[in-house]
Amino acid sequence: MDISVVIPLIDEAESLPELEAWIRNVMEQNFFTYEIIMVDDGSSDNSWKVIQELHSKNPLLKGVKFQRNYGKSAALNEGFKLAKGEVVITMDADLQDSPDEIPELRKMILVDGFDIVSGWKKKRYDNKISKNIPSKLFNAATRKVSGIYLHDFNCGLKAYKNKVVKCIEVYGEMHRYIPLLAKWS
Ligand code: UDP
Ligand code: MG
Repeated sequence: MDISVVIPLIDEAESLPELEAWIRNVMEQNFFTYEIIMVDDGSSDNSWKVIQELHSKNPLLKGVKFQRNYGKSAALNEGFKLAKGEVVITMDADLQDSPDEIPELRKMILVDGFDIVSGWKKKRYDNKISKNIPSKLFNAATRKVSGIYLHDFNCGLKAYKNKVVKCIEVYGEMHRYIPLLAKWS
């Protein structure tokens, strides 16, 4: 299998059908074999019902459901355990990350030979003061401490070689530091 797309989510029912259709479209146009793993991290909206409906129409989409909210890291970790694709791509469910990036991310892993590739959000749609400033500080501090010069550690859009996700264990708030874990493992 070429690609596993792992999507951690909580209360994202509204965006899931569009996200599935968009990813499927990109995969089919590029003739990639794939799976989509949606990990429902304790949603209280309709997300799980939507995931089941999407699965019945497209069995390449698989769902995992947590009984309560364990956090984005735990959800990613669960997806990583299941992922069968040669390249594993993580993506947020809120349509802030574009599935159109998938072919280029895959190429950077398979052709250019990177272990991890990280995206970043060119334009932040979030509230400026509460998110952008802490995010800039966070990125600056993490760059300094780790020596890894990533533009945006928090971006949910990343691509990994399969063997990389199989040898890291993510929990707590660690999803922000996956490139560091990968470097040290
Ligand atoms: N998410 C999750 N568990 C949580 C919080 C968030 O699975 O406890 C998911 C969320 O549904 C989304 C992704 O993680 O798909 C990123 O969340 P959010 O958009 O809140 O993060 P931000 O864009 O602020 O980095
Ligand atoms: Mg978001």
